[in-house]
Amino acid sequence: MDDYAFGSGGMVFAAPQLKKALDSVITGLDGVKPYVVYPSPQGVLISQEIIETLALQENVVIICGHYEGIDERFTEKYVDLEVSIGDCVLTGGEIPAMLITDAMSRLVPGTVGKGTAVIEDSFYRGMLDNPNYTRPAVWEGMKVPEILTGGNQHEISRLRRREAVRRTLTRRPDLISRASVREYISDVNIAVTAESENLDISGLMELCRAYGLGRPHITAKSRELREVLKAKYPGAKLSGSLERIREKSGDNVLTVRIFAQARKNSLHCLEVKRKCLEHDGGILLVFAENDRVTDENDENNILSGYLFSEGSDLPMSILIGIALDRLLGKR
Ligand code: SAM
Repeated sequence: MDDYAFGSGGMVFAAPQLKKALDSVITGLDGVKPYVVYPSPQGVLISQEIIETLALQENVVIICGHYEGIDERFTEKYVDLEVSIGDCVLTGGEIPAMLITDAMSRLVPGTVGKGTAVIEDSFYRGMLDNPNYTRPAVWEGMKVPEILTGGNQHEISRLRRREAVRRTLTRRPDLISRASVREYISDVNIAVTAESENLDISGLMELCRAYGLGRPHITAKSRELREVLKAKYPGAKLSGSLERIREKSGDNVLTVRIFAQARKNSLHCLEVKRKCLEHDGGILLVFAENDRVTDENDENNILSGYLFSEGSDLPMSILIGIALDRLLGKR
């Protein structure tokens, strides 16, 4: 099955024999080609997303290399994914194959006793897990956090979310961009400043519902516009000014104005995501039709973020959809 590498070097698994082995698997699958994975130090780095993709395939074949690896022509023609388990070299592909199979099997319902455990584990939502403790409550002078032994489930969940956020931000900030953080931010509300009656408020309400948010606050300065919007959308939450919404939201609310286009002192959307995660309290995301700032007095207390480096003519409800996806995103 193996032979000397052309040129010089060690042994290489030969393509004809690998093809023969693959064909015999295909025969057993009634001619259906399986998804072929080759674990290799030169592959893309393994991730939960790759494992989820593999778990959705009907059949997966893992080719384990040895020595110098396998003939490149087989990889080019028959391998769907070359994947690495990390920047180190093992003697063979068997351990990577076990790793991949184990991670995939956790996603098969019933493998892990409590289904929610998989969701709460590191990486499922893109974040790291919170630290865990068991009895005794005091060990070698070290106490577990008091909240965990207090029995208040709401407080326990809050603490766990906070710890997961703290860990991810300090150990793996690189994960934040692709993490689903909706579950880690307690209270998110949206306020939109309408400048015309064209604002698609029904669409906005749908969007908010899809992200588990309450109805959006709509502010319109003129009483006439408020009346028109009220008649058009009886279910809308209309208000005279952003200031009033902020007052009602309470003290511990971080207000973030999101612009379509970058402007002076505004933060990249990913930075906004990080700030929202860091903030231990509610978030009010503020959008304005035509990207205009209407309440100049507020600027000192409001963080500004942007979606695009250059301008965009997208309608308001689409921009808000993009912002929600980037900030709270569903994986
Ligand atoms: N010549 C190869 C190179 O330098 O990239 C290394 C071959 S390695 C000694 C032999 C086999 O172990 C590979 O073909 C692969 O199947 C497996 N292997 C080694 N390290 C791996 C890693 N980090 N991830 C996935 N598979 C690995």
